[in-house]
Amino acid sequence: MPNAKTVKDYIRTIVDFPHEGIMFRDVTTLFADPRGLRLAVDQLLHPYAGMEIDKVAGLEARGFILGGAVAHQLGKGFVPIRKKGKLPGKVISEEYQLEYGEAIVEIHDDAIAPGEKILLVDDLLATGGTAEAGIRLIERLGGEIIGCAFVIDLPELGGRKRLEALGMDVHALCD
Ligand code: 5GP
Repeated sequence: MPNAKTVKDYIRTIVDFPHEGIMFRDVTTLFADPRGLRLAVDQLLHPYAGMEIDKVAGLEARGFILGGAVAHQLGKGFVPIRKKGKLPGKVISEEYQLEYGEAIVEIHDDAIAPGEKILLVDDLLATGGTAEAGIRLIERLGGEIIGCAFVIDLPELGGRKRLEALGMDVHALCD
């Protein structure tokens, strides 16, 4: 029997996490279900079928789970973009604004060669600050981003507009 559930049906909302007033979209329930995980990975890939992609880059931490699965499916390599201090080799860094304070993400400086075509993957697009920092890292290494793929877009937070203003193709499975 065909699976009628959509990706959104597998995502659970946790109220007041990590702070009071926040509705956290929890994708662990999507990842834990074999049909949910396959559906998400297949749909993340769908617009890019037939396009030339050299590597998939994923944002820590849930972007590693999705990006790793997408890279495997494409038969390509995976590049992690990590929070400061986690990568063992020589890195380049980008700082970005959080709701309170700043954060820094890093990439190995030899992870992407100039001209390589990169698909950027994360679980959720909110303000777009995290993704934009990832985009800057990839572009500083000379990578060409062919798309930014997310499971969830929170349109009221403006991330899609922000990334599209940078010339990015943004793909999200649900709002
Ligand atoms: P942004 O930088 O676009 O404001 O926030 C997106 C980043 O924060 C992503 O890396 C994402 O994993 C994380 N994030 C923010 N809110 C949520 C949420 O409600 N659920 C999940 N799963 N991740 C979130």
